[in-house]
Amino acid sequence: MSNYETVVGLEVHMQINTKSKVFCECSTEFGAEPNSNTCVICTSQPGAIPILNKKAVEAIIKTGLALNFTVNKQCTFARKQYFYPDVPKNYQITQSEPPLCSNGKLAIMLDGKEKVVNITRIHLEEDAGKLVHEIGSRKLDYSLLDLNRASIGLMELVTEPELSSPQEALEFLTELRTIVRYIGASECSMEEGKMRCDVNVSVRPVGQKELGTRVEIKNMNSISGVKDAIAYETERQIEVLSRGGKLVQETRLWEAEEGITKSMRSKEGALDYRYFPEPDLVPFNLPDSFIEELRAQVPELPRARRARFIKEYSLSEYDAEFLTSSKQIADYYEETLNASENKELSSKPIANWISTELNGKLNASGKEINESPVSSKNLAKLVTLILNGAISGKMAKTVFEEMYEKSADPETVIKEKGLVQISDETAIIKICEEAIAESPKAVAEFKAGKERAIGAIVGLVMKKSKGQANPQIVNKILIEKLKV
Ligand code: ADP
Ligand code: MG
Ligand code: ZN
Repeated sequence: MSNYETVVGLEVHMQINTKSKVFCECSTEFGAEPNSNTCVICTSQPGAIPILNKKAVEAIIKTGLALNFTVNKQCTFARKQYFYPDVPKNYQITQSEPPLCSNGKLAIMLDGKEKVVNITRIHLEEDAGKLVHEIGSRKLDYSLLDLNRASIGLMELVTEPELSSPQEALEFLTELRTIVRYIGASECSMEEGKMRCDVNVSVRPVGQKELGTRVEIKNMNSISGVKDAIAYETERQIEVLSRGGKLVQETRLWEAEEGITKSMRSKEGALDYRYFPEPDLVPFNLPDSFIEELRAQVPELPRARRARFIKEYSLSEYDAEFLTSSKQIADYYEETLNASENKELSSKPIANWISTELNGKLNASGKEINESPVSSKNLAKLVTLILNGAISGKMAKTVFEEMYEKSADPETVIKEKGLVQISDETAIIKICEEAIAESPKAVAEFKAGKERAIGAIVGLVMKKSKGQANPQIVNKILIEKLKV
């Protein structure tokens, strides 16, 4: 097995996050009544003229700039001819040469080491419609055509054949998705088909320069599926070659349930799509000022933000990784921190509250952080109250529950529940004195050297104060009193 190495190249389609389609004004809304988001353009009526959506071009260029691409100022479209049962006009409007973006890069981390993956291109194209072969669980003996998806803008990104393991492909796709979401260019939700991936896999003897015969696995819709399919395909190809067999260039399908790939069709050389310039979309040049405006809109990217969080807020790599996993979470974290009284003391506790309590509740209620019932301001107040000793960590959990349920601010909850922690020493001294008087046995034991005996007295103080005495102060006072 170890005499071979895997080579992987990815073709990733991402649905561009615009309100309307790329060549008409129809809505891109997911899950609408079949064929309700259609017009003469996206149903391919003869003579209908496509009109380019500027926002789609912007999304691709921003993605390109974030991934160190060269942006090609020349914007041209081409027809890709094919028999498409789901595109009545039987060609797809896409880009051939040049694409909008050429020669990009994405750095991924593997076991603490960086690997830079070269990306060949990103181009703009339209999506096809969808053939429907079943309604609910009822299989049809005919096909239905839903054109809601037809002409929704896609960006297609193609990598060089440079990934060399299932894990690398997983890291690449995960990082790519995070970046594209940061930019807002696509939602990349694979469940909704807004990110789809064709995976090209070949193997070659270690040390050989030329590439082996590749297999293309079409339309993968989960990152873990991509990882598993590459692992399976690597093993299958090595097995064929090791027993002297030959591989054919073909398209295969991933059968997720069985965990195997199956041959779909052979692919001898390139299909001739007869690309030609799209006559209805005249080539034009993008002004430099347009590209520069977009460059200024590219936000701080996840990797840079992760590094800054570690440095500026003294967070662990683990915390920084979680907090920068989406722009929304990172923004929420920084908003909370900016609203808190003492940034230095708050940075870690805020990170903990977001990654554990808040994240847990959001997951359980299927909410995103920008829908959080606990505002960043209120979370900042809660953490400040804990740091000031106004409430204990344990009380804070109860307060947080209420804050989440009722979108309430912590002070209101504390007042309503009478949860204030007693930190006033005179009040605590009085309760401690009572507790000492009522616990002669524990006092004797403590004085005889059994330090653990103090626990019983602390417990009594907490009980008398209904859990509101600040336990640190209680401990301090009891020790002072007992050690005399
Ligand atoms: P096509 O348009 O037929 O899919 P391309 O030449 O554009 O073919 O390649 C598509 C993808 O396949 C690219 O991501 C490329 O890196 C990858 N690829 C090409 N040759 C190989 C190979 N021998 N092994 C693995 N991946 C490959
Ligand atoms: Mg391909
Ligand atoms: Zn339309």
